[in-house]
Amino acid sequence: MPKPSPWSVALVASLSLSLAGAGLAAGAGAASAEPASATSTTSAAVSPTAFVAPNGHTYDLATGATDDPQAAALVARARTFLPADWQARRQASVARLGVEASAPREALERAIDPTQYQCSPTRLDAYVDGLLANIDYSNLFFLATTGALDLPTYDAILFGSSGDTRYALQRDYRNELTRSFRAAQTFWDTDGSGIQLMAMHGDVMRDEARMTRTLAFLYGAPESAVAGLASMIRQVVASDPGLQDGDNPLFTLNAFAFSAEGETDPVVAAIPDKLVFGDGILSALEAIGVGDVGPRAVLGHEYAHHVQYDKGLFDSPLTGPEATRRTELMADAFGTYFVTHKRGLALNTARVLQAEQSFYQVGDCSFTSAGHHGTPNQRLRASTWGSAVAADAQKQGQVLPSLTLDARFEATLPEFVAPDA
Ligand SMILES: [Zn+2]
Repeated sequence: MPKPSPWSVALVASLSLSLAGAGLAAGAGAASAEPASATSTTSAAVSPTAFVAPNGHTYDLATGATDDPQAAALVARARTFLPADWQARRQASVARLGVEASAPREALERAIDPTQYQCSPTRLDAYVDGLLANIDYSNLFFLATTGALDLPTYDAILFGSSGDTRYALQRDYRNELTRSFRAAQTFWDTDGSGIQLMAMHGDVMRDEARMTRTLAFLYGAPESAVAGLASMIRQVVASDPGLQDGDNPLFTLNAFAFSAEGETDPVVAAIPDKLVFGDGILSALEAIGVGDVGPRAVLGHEYAHHVQYDKGLFDSPLTGPEATRRTELMADAFGTYFVTHKRGLALNTARVLQAEQSFYQVGDCSFTSAGHHGTPNQRLRASTWGSAVAADAQKQGQVLPSLTLDARFEATLPEFVAPDA
């Protein structure tokens, strides 16, 4: 029985743009752009998941339905390369891997489909709006609907390795992230020696062979069947200047920890543990003014997820959004504990909390979603607590065992999530 990773749930719930939709049952994906299937005739005009884009056309990322003829033609052609139950297949494949969506990634989803969120615009939203400004919406809809926006992510999980130069960290961040990663491996009382630190780059979008093998996994289809879709994606990416031939940060707007810990699925179990930094998230951190300590704070958070995997800390009596909130607040607390502790990264606590605060403010307001990370205030409380425990522990020159830190965290969790009023 595969370990019930809350990340799978988080991803399925949060990647509304690229998935069939959390509530979409297998076979219900038929839309007006799909003449081959007649199980449903969902109309973009009446679907509750449809929205009107700035260009005046209606789009439904859950079903692929749209009244934009150019987008409808692209999606219809894409479907000729895919099995009939393509959306359910992708949803299942994504759940097999389980990746959490970063705040920038969620801002991207918000920008593409504003009906999914109720947040007020933030600096990060402005950054993401800038990324999308010059992209033809028909192309964006096609990429989101077919999962193309996720190809660098899944390529890195399935095929990336830290020894492969195609996944090398950008020069500007390589030393800082590598040193911080090594420090985390030493700091925590877990065996992180097998975790591979790597980047993901947008150049995947220029490589049909790499896209084909990843699409084959995502859709559970032979490479020969999905090669045509890879070719279509390649053409769209090359033809739209706004996509910058794959180098637009929107393709790599995520950082995540991957672990096959507890997985029995042989394909997934064979994948080594990873910590992946997209080029796009580094650009986003820079853009919102936290390029100094932001990448290391994100690394601390993601490495904390590996500590959770190693120590079995994902399990709790909680379920749904509360379960995800608990593990995310723990990652915030543990990550801040590590980056501010003198025997960790010894970063300036005030600056780290300031950076985290601006990062958390961009966080999700979808409080009922299974991918809920906690409100900005809850996350800041957890981080502040982590830094205080570090300040206290380091006086004794201690690094607390992770299970001791967890016991303290669990005891304090009710205070983190207490109502703000
Ligand atoms: Zn997380």
